[in-house]
Amino acid sequence: MEQYIEIKAVNPDSLLFYRMGDFYEMFFDDAVTASRALGIALTKRGKHLGQDIPMCGVPIHAADDYLQRLIQLGHRVAVCEQMEDPAEAKKRGSKSVVKRDVVRLVTPGTLTEDSLLEPRRNNYLLTVARARTASIGEAEAFALAWVDISTGEFRVAETDATRLAADIARVDPGEIVVSDALYADQELAPFWRTFKAVSPTPRDLFDGASAERRLSAYFGVRTIDGFGSFSRLELMAAAAAVTYVERTQLASRAPLMPPVREPSGFAMLIDQATRANLELVRTLGGERQGSLLSAIDRTVTAAGARLLGSRLANPLTDPAAIAERQDAVETLVAASTLRAEIRARLQSAPDMARALTRVAMGRAGPRDLAAIGQGLVAAASLADLVASETAGELKSAAIGLAQPDPGLARLIASALDDELPLLKRDGGFVRAGHLADLDESRSLRDESRRVIAGLQTRYAEETGIRALKIKHNNVLGYFVEVAQQHGEAFLKEPLNQTYIHRQSMAGAMRFTTTELGQLEAKIAGAADRSVRLELSVFDDLSNAILAASDAIREAAAALAVLDVATALATLAVEQAYVRPLVDMSLAFSIKGGRHPVVEQAIARSAPFVANDCDLSGSDGKAGSGGRIWLITGPNMAGKSTFLRQNALIAVLAQIGAFVPAASAHIGVVDRLFSRVGAADDLARGRSTFMVEMVETAAILNQAGARALVILDEIGRGTATFDGLSIAWAAVEHLHEANRCRSLFATHFHELTALSKRLARLHNATMRVKEWQGDVIFLHEVTDGAADRSYGIQVAKLAGLPSSVIDRAKRVLSELEATDRAAPVRRMVDDLPLFAAAPRPLPEAAKPDPALDLLDGFDPDDMTPREAHEALYALKAKR
Ligand code: ADP
Repeated sequence: MEQYIEIKAVNPDSLLFYRMGDFYEMFFDDAVTASRALGIALTKRGKHLGQDIPMCGVPIHAADDYLQRLIQLGHRVAVCEQMEDPAEAKKRGSKSVVKRDVVRLVTPGTLTEDSLLEPRRNNYLLTVARARTASIGEAEAFALAWVDISTGEFRVAETDATRLAADIARVDPGEIVVSDALYADQELAPFWRTFKAVSPTPRDLFDGASAERRLSAYFGVRTIDGFGSFSRLELMAAAAAVTYVERTQLASRAPLMPPVREPSGFAMLIDQATRANLELVRTLGGERQGSLLSAIDRTVTAAGARLLGSRLANPLTDPAAIAERQDAVETLVAASTLRAEIRARLQSAPDMARALTRVAMGRAGPRDLAAIGQGLVAAASLADLVASETAGELKSAAIGLAQPDPGLARLIASALDDELPLLKRDGGFVRAGHLADLDESRSLRDESRRVIAGLQTRYAEETGIRALKIKHNNVLGYFVEVAQQHGEAFLKEPLNQTYIHRQSMAGAMRFTTTELGQLEAKIAGAADRSVRLELSVFDDLSNAILAASDAIREAAAALAVLDVATALATLAVEQAYVRPLVDMSLAFSIKGGRHPVVEQAIARSAPFVANDCDLSGSDGKAGSGGRIWLITGPNMAGKSTFLRQNALIAVLAQIGAFVPAASAHIGVVDRLFSRVGAADDLARGRSTFMVEMVETAAILNQAGARALVILDEIGRGTATFDGLSIAWAAVEHLHEANRCRSLFATHFHELTALSKRLARLHNATMRVKEWQGDVIFLHEVTDGAADRSYGIQVAKLAGLPSSVIDRAKRVLSELEATDRAAPVRRMVDDLPLFAAAPRPLPEAAKPDPALDLLDGFDPDDMTPREAHEALYALKAKR
């Protein structure tokens, strides 16, 4: 208990898994928490300060399952192992306790075991560093660093307060690490609470002065200059990440790759609300099924699925980089045999990246080595297959695949058996014939077992007791067992000369003999030797793998790239997608676009109706800016589907995929916004109208010329005239100030009158047909405005009682007589236009003479008088 309390004191924030023999035990409050969380029995063991000590435990072999549940519930677990054989402790004295130590802290962001990880998703640990002060007028600066220790990936990027949330959303981390101070920050505290796992840590993790030193120490280099150039803030975040990894992995070093810096603006910014709303990687209900990712995912390997997921989270903004990916997809679309052959060979490629990490961390089993062997074989065979491909990414993939030395795969295959145990501990994984010494020990062991069988027959004959058996257990080793009534004779002359009594059981007696003892020693010796030899084979293989780890990583990355390209090509052929033209224009012209998810979902019941959309802005010319489509039409007509499909097509185009359309031309979108009116937002259970307005505010404040904005039924969450007025002003603001490409769906038909005044506003509507008083949705988008909302017809379709429908019709005709649109028509003619000036684009920001002047001052080199004069000079520049 003393030892326990000492170790627990160092790990107050974690549940302590305290190794005792074949169990991890938990005590005190940990036991209470864990037994409740895991639904396991709470018992007690011993007393502390006169009180019973609560205890619960989990068996070693099932520990991973329990760990996974605790981690999912947001707990951290400190795993404390026995650091020596209990026999060693006994040698030191009877009171001596086995040495124990925490070898690892298991947190949501630092997992390496397949059983704890989702194979098809990355699991990132993200650190957030904040610059101490922001210059006046600038948004606060932040840096992010994120690592997936299961694959070694390590990235850093700078961001600022306005983009922080969107940047964290694109990483979608499993755990966020921030300093205590940042965690407690008044403004950010509510933001942190929206994440499941945020770990506040002592400030020293983010210490800037030691950041560079900690990084170079981790990577074992003199200087980190070779990794590229990083800002001070980026170094702080990166150093915090490696130090956190070190502090959780304790006993082993995670094989991270050097950090890669992501330049700002390299990915389309998509904030969390938009991601959720567009259901990019999971649905609003949190499922993968039904998301865009699941609709387009045709990858066959786990690493490919992870890469596709991360590309979908980070659509590119550089047309050249996008074209690289498109070129590969296009080649594979055209080559159907090659595509099929690549997929067939990828099927046999296991997850090399994660296996490699476990090898490096000493957590690997024989199956991890075999996985790398098989992966290398698959990579080599694919390297041959695509060696002559030169289109886009295929070229670099072909080079990556060919990196590893083929000898390594052969070595692994010849050393490992076909059937492999999970753990290396007991041996049994080295192929017969691989090592002569091992073959000899094994046959000695097997031979001795045959001798024992012979011995049993001889003893039975000599004693005349047919039921005599030679058995084995861990306590006694080999022993002779006879029934109680025969056993008495063994205690007397002459049998007691040969048989030495060991144990009496109910109904049976156990003996040993000198011969048996000798044999036993021989067998144990041979078995020990076999295991030792096997473990050394394991170490040799591990070392050979680690020596080749760079090449293996390159091959693994190339496999993933090839998988993604082939998968996107397969999707394109299967679903008739086309290659979009992506460039730096402000075009947004989609012909015959379809919704990638809805199309597949309804495929069996109805054909999906394709629709055009053109939001193209005329760059730079007078009256420039993107167009706004204002879409009216009854509920259920397909407005939301149309809005979202255009956003999804832009996302797909910028990840380098083909898109569900007849043709598409898209000028790079740098920021995507999508909002849904409050009534659709109930799933999130927040004060809905307020949320809607906060989010709309963010769009109107942030959307620039390259943004794509999707607004669905904004203003619906409040009283009619409030809502109409807000929607009205928002459309004007988008048109006059943001000037970005936008789609705006609304049931306020009055807004369509605005097209008279706003040159780039275009009215579109969903066609419906009326037939015998019912409404039929054609799902077709055409020019013009809806004349009616057909709400009552939709209500009828939904099965409202006919008496209610009849009554509603009467009320409606009364209301229509009052002509609610009249004041609106008047306003369109008379109300002055929205007054906000177009916002200057960041590139166009004018140089500030005061700042130029300021640049010339050197405060360390000024007298107080000069400083005073400088202040006057600065003021004069205002
Ligand atoms: P609204 O936003 O106008 O209320 P939705 O976009 O939610 O309508 O569409 C309602 C339903 O109509 C969808 O669930 C979908 O099944 C179907 N739908 C929408 N657009 C199309 C289309 N273009 N082709 C076929 N079915 C469609």
